[in-house]
Amino acid sequence: MSVFGNFPTNRLKRRPVKAGSLLFGLEAPILVQSMTTTDTRDISATLNQIEQLANADCELVRVAVLNSQAAKALPEICKHSKLPVVADIHYDHRLALAAIEAGVVKLRINPGNMGDKAKVREVAKAAAAADVAIRVGVNSASLEKGLLDKHGGATPQAMVESAVGHIHLLEDAGFESIIVSIKAPDVSRTVMANRMIAEICDYPLHICITHAGPPKSGIVASSIGLGILLAEGIGDTVRVSLTGDPVLEVETAYLILESLKLRQRGACIVSCPTCGRCQVDLAKIVSEVEEMVRSYRGPAITIAVMGCEVNGPGEGKEADIGIAAGQGMGLLFVKGEVIAKVEADKLCEALQKQFSLITGFAHSS
Ligand code: SF4
Repeated sequence: MSVFGNFPTNRLKRRPVKAGSLLFGLEAPILVQSMTTTDTRDISATLNQIEQLANADCELVRVAVLNSQAAKALPEICKHSKLPVVADIHYDHRLALAAIEAGVVKLRINPGNMGDKAKVREVAKAAAAADVAIRVGVNSASLEKGLLDKHGGATPQAMVESAVGHIHLLEDAGFESIIVSIKAPDVSRTVMANRMIAEICDYPLHICITHAGPPKSGIVASSIGLGILLAEGIGDTVRVSLTGDPVLEVETAYLILESLKLRQRGACIVSCPTCGRCQVDLAKIVSEVEEMVRSYRGPAITIAVMGCEVNGPGEGKEADIGIAAGQGMGLLFVKGEVIAKVEADKLCEALQKQFSLITGFAHSS
């Protein structure tokens, strides 16, 4: 553990909710999820994307169930999916029933949009019998008109009131395997609404800055929004919502969790930004080191890749191992102590040997 301690230490304990083999809340890991961008009716494209997400360590995947044709694709998708599947459904309770029958582990629905209470009860009964959890997912963009009028717009209070209404509908149907999400495309409303809902219920919370945008701005907004909430102990599963390849959502989610030391998947690379002292192509070396550790999933290890021999070992001294590049020669160091001077073009090889020695992991290129 770092001498500065781990941060945060105050994750709020939520009641445990099972979804198939997954557990949310309590002391379960904060699960990383994403959503396919394929047309769910295209089974092979959807399974292909799910496999890519699984390879990136995604832990559950949501697919949009737009209509009955998409629902008909679900049995095959669930059967062959490398990840537990969540069905995203609006309005039509028959799609929810079909998704449960098909083998999804979770539904994302808003019970208040399903018509009458009898339909909600039917879905709740089928979900309970199949060990399927239900996420009540409130979005600022699709709030009930009455609440918009009452609160003067999609305020955090309006979103929370909407979520509470949906939760009560499920609870009235005797169903409590509930996960809650309240999302807006901006950090402030999402943070405020999640703080409020975390105070008034103990269901696990799915956190996300919805429709956060293209990768660069979306990653910044997601990192700030999810970072604030996670640092306050709020959040049991995360989705980063970006326009583009969902694999990037998963990678970003892990980087956020790893930054807060809430999840650790293996190696953490610390590298310097370089400056006028750097005499090598450090970006290339960092890419090689990234490749070396890509599939490492052993105990946590921090690797420093620094751009000069003068400041490198000192700046990277909290790393477990590292290299500091110099002109022609570089240094290999362990816990800030130089253990060898190595020719510049052999630095990566030396680092790899040291990494294998410590971890027992053999990188295969
Ligand atoms: Fe510059 Fe050296 Fe610091 Fe890198 S480690 S930023 S090259 S002084």
